[in-house]
Amino acid sequence: MKKITIIGTGYVGLVTGAGLSDFGNYVTCVDTIKSKIELLNSGSIPIYEPGLKDLVKHNISEQRLNFTTDIKKAIKNSEVIFIAVGTPELQNGDADLSFIETVAEQIGENINGYKVICTKSTVPVGTGNIISKIIKSKSKNDISFDYVSNPEFLREGSAVKDFLWPDRVVIGASNKKSFSVMKNVYRPLYINEKPIIHTNIETAEMIKYAANSFLALKISYINEIANLCEEVGADVHQVANGMGKDGRISSKFLHPGPGFGGSCFPKDTRAFATLASKNNIKLHTVEASIKVNNQQKERMFLKLKKLLNNNISNKKIGILGIAFKPNTDDFRESSSITMIDSILNKNGIVNVYDPVISSAVKKKFPKVNCFDSWEECSKGTDAIVIMTEWNIFRGLDLKKLRSFMKTPIILDTRNIISTNKLYKNGFKYDNVGRNNIK
Ligand code: NAD
Repeated sequence: MKKITIIGTGYVGLVTGAGLSDFGNYVTCVDTIKSKIELLNSGSIPIYEPGLKDLVKHNISEQRLNFTTDIKKAIKNSEVIFIAVGTPELQNGDADLSFIETVAEQIGENINGYKVICTKSTVPVGTGNIISKIIKSKSKNDISFDYVSNPEFLREGSAVKDFLWPDRVVIGASNKKSFSVMKNVYRPLYINEKPIIHTNIETAEMIKYAANSFLALKISYINEIANLCEEVGADVHQVANGMGKDGRISSKFLHPGPGFGGSCFPKDTRAFATLASKNNIKLHTVEASIKVNNQQKERMFLKLKKLLNNNISNKKIGILGIAFKPNTDDFRESSSITMIDSILNKNGIVNVYDPVISSAVKKKFPKVNCFDSWEECSKGTDAIVIMTEWNIFRGLDLKKLRSFMKTPIILDTRNIISTNKLYKNGFKYDNVGRNNIK
C-alpha cells in the first residue's frame, strides 16, 4: 500500500483521500485553507456529500487518513502525489491552470526522491507536459519522477459510491513502472476486475473532456426535444423512455430540466470547445450543447414570466432548491442562479429554501430571503419555482402549499409533481416537455 498525498481537499480531493485510504493506502490531504483543515481534523467535513463523513471518520480512526496545511512535509513523505486543485474558467473559456501551476512549483521545490505525480483535476490536453516541465525546472537535484493523468468521474451527490465502485479507472501513464504504481494504489478495484484503462497521458486527459461533453450533449438534446414536445402535444418522459430502452442510447442523462449546471459541465464544455478551436477544430456539437443550455436556463424564466402574465415586478417568488442537483451543497453555475438573477433584475422578490444551502446563498444574493423550510418559504408567494429535485419536494403537500400561497402558481422545472394533482388542486402550472392539461 502506498503513502499518498492529495493536494487540494475540495469535493474531489476529499473524496479521493477518503476513498484511497479506505483502499488501505496511507493518505495525507493538504489544503491552503486553514479553517477547512481544522474542521476536518476535528471530525467534521466542510461539504455535504452522503456517506463521506463516516468514511472520513473511519479512516482517521484506522490512522490511514490525516489532514494538514504543511504541503512541504506532505510532498516529502509521499510516494504518490495527487493534484486535485480547482481548474475554474478564465474569461476566454480556457481552464485557469494557475492553481495547478503553483502546486507543480511546490512539488518541484520539495521533491526528494522518485515519486509518481498524478493529476485528478480536469485539465486540457497537454497540461501534463506543462506540469512535468515546471516540476523539472524547480527541482534542484534532477530527481526522477513520473507523471500520470488519472481523471475523476465521480458525481457530486453519489461521490463516495462512484469512487469506491467506479465504472472504470482511466490511467494515462507513459511507462510500465508508473502504471504499476497506480494499479497498486487502486488495488482493491484491480482485484475486483474493475476496468483499469491504460492510455497515454494525452488520451486520458481527452477522455475526461469527451465524456463530460457527451453527457452535457445528451442533456441539451433531451431539453430541445422537450421544448418541441411542448409545441406538438407529446410527453418528453415517454419519449425519453422509448428512446432509452434502446441499449445503444440508454436512458441515463435523458432527463429534461432547467439546463445543466454545477462545477463541471458548464466550464468543461467551454474549455473543450476552446481547446478545439485553438487546434483549428470546431466542435459544433459541443458548442451547440452550450448554446442550448444557456437558452434553456433563460427559457425557464420566460415560463415563469408567462405564468405571471408578464409581470414580475414586486411579485414574491419562492424558489425551492438551489443546488445544481440533489444531495449536494454545490450550486456553482446552477440554473437556480440564472432564475434568481432574472427575477431580481425585474424587481421581483425572491424567497429561497434549499435543504442544505442557506448562508452561501445569502452571501451571493444579499437581497434574497432564505428560509429553513418550504412551508416558510412559500408563505405569501405569488408563485413557486422548483429548481432542484430534492426528495422532500417530490412529496409536497399541495393543499398545504396552496393554503400558504397568495396565488397558486407552480413552475416545476424538474417535472417531479404530478400534473394531475396540480390540476386537481387548482394550480396554474408549467413544467418541461410534458403533455400538460391546458
Ligand atoms: P474545489 O474548489 O472544491 O476544491 C479545490 C481545493 O483546492 C480547494 O479546497 C482549495 O483551497 C484547494 N487548493 C487550491 N490551491 C491549493 C494549493 N496550492 N495547495 C493546496 N490546496 C489548494 O474543487 P473540486 O470541485 O474538488 O474540483 C477539483 C478538480 O476536479 C477540478 O479540476 C474539477 O473540474 C475536477 N472534477 C470535479 C468534480 C466534481 O464533481 N466536483 C468531478 C470530477 C472532476
